[in-house]
Amino acid sequence: MPPAPESLRRLPGVDELLRRPDLASLWERLGPDGARRVIREVLEAARAAAMAPVAIEAELNAAAARRLNPSLRPVINATGVILHTNLGRAPLAPAAVAQVAAAAAAYTNLELNLDTGERGRRDLHLARLLAELTGAEQTIVVNNNAAAVLLAIHSLAIDRQGEILVSRGELVEIGESFRIPDIIARGGAKLVEVGSTNRTRIEDYERALTPATRVILRVHRSNFTQEGFVAQPSLAELSGLARRANVPLVEDLGSGCLARIPGVPSEPTVAESIAQGVDVVTYSGDKLLGGPQAGLASGGARWIAALRANPLFRALRVDRLTCAALEATLALIARQAWDELPVLAMLRATDIETRARAFAALVPPGFEVEIAAGDSLIGGGARPGDRLTPCLIGLARSGLSAAALARALRRHEPPIIARIAQDRCWLDLRTVPPAQEADLLAGLRAIM
Ligand SMILES: *Cc1c(COP(=O)(O)O)cnc(C)c1O
Repeated sequence: MPPAPESLRRLPGVDELLRRPDLASLWERLGPDGARRVIREVLEAARAAAMAPVAIEAELNAAAARRLNPSLRPVINATGVILHTNLGRAPLAPAAVAQVAAAAAAYTNLELNLDTGERGRRDLHLARLLAELTGAEQTIVVNNNAAAVLLAIHSLAIDRQGEILVSRGELVEIGESFRIPDIIARGGAKLVEVGSTNRTRIEDYERALTPATRVILRVHRSNFTQEGFVAQPSLAELSGLARRANVPLVEDLGSGCLARIPGVPSEPTVAESIAQGVDVVTYSGDKLLGGPQAGLASGGARWIAALRANPLFRALRVDRLTCAALEATLALIARQAWDELPVLAMLRATDIETRARAFAALVPPGFEVEIAAGDSLIGGGARPGDRLTPCLIGLARSGLSAAALARALRRHEPPIIARIAQDRCWLDLRTVPPAQEADLLAGLRAIM
């Protein structure tokens, strides 16, 4: 082995670094094991890169910061996609955050009836608000909408080894791993495909009914639209047929809009489905509802009781933090406090162009800036045919590809997530609260 260069031989050792008083506060924050790990990592990298001893301290600080920073942390969503699944979907309202914080740090009456002193049910805290908002007799809450669909299908059909009727136009895939036919196949119920991809009539369902039919399932086309030569029976027709056959009509509604909201592209609401005779409606808590990740199933007491009695319900139940966030969110919807719910406020915003132009003027020199109209999905399976029409800020920097610029923005703290198109990074302020614009500008200055 050739002798190590002079600079490497002078690298301090682990114990020597641990004894240094100027680094003591760092070791305190990392804990003894963490400190040793970080020092070893940095020394190894320093040897590999033949780094000078003076550079070690900065490396230690950077490595410690990486270790101390939580892995899951807030980012700036500059994509304009309001319900972005990779970015955690709906940001919570301040009132919901406060209610979560209060429930998180204390014991709660999660399953205790304070009047009688007897055991209660965790979802009873939401019962009044949900009954008012949906018109349904009962609602149960589980981990997400995929779980609600699974629980409904399992409780009403799979347990009874029966058949489920689904239109061929609704055998959809919601996300990578959630396909309606797979969910049904999992449990041993039989999927009976009805009609054709583009046209399914009520007579098709009628012909498919057998004594083994347990459920008629309708799935909302959340993430695509069909146009042209298409037909689908109305919910009222389907519920009439379900009544005559004495089987439940289950609807996977997806985004879970609870009200018609001025200024927001209209989605069918849960209450409308219930009013048209759907027996069980399932929907997400963190899409248009604007709350925490959760899945809700609203419907007739008889059917919801079957879901509640299924042992799977216990496996899919929500914790007190979700209950707290959901209760606060539902209370805001009941008050029609639309602009206190971030998702709805972003959808309703009308000042995006004004903000974009003001922001563009503040972009530090060295960037090529352009303002362009564009289009943007709401995301989260809401209104797939609709585009919001944002005013986008396009950024380019000579010597830096759009991908490299996007990477630099992601490495900023807080990380900034932009879109890439036409060799530019695009920022859409619709999903950036005004208070975050300063962070956004700081991120751009840091790249200079
Ligand atoms: C989003 C969606 C789901 C899945 O909901 P999660 O809450 O993400 O589990 C299921 N069905 C439809 C129609 C949806 O839009």
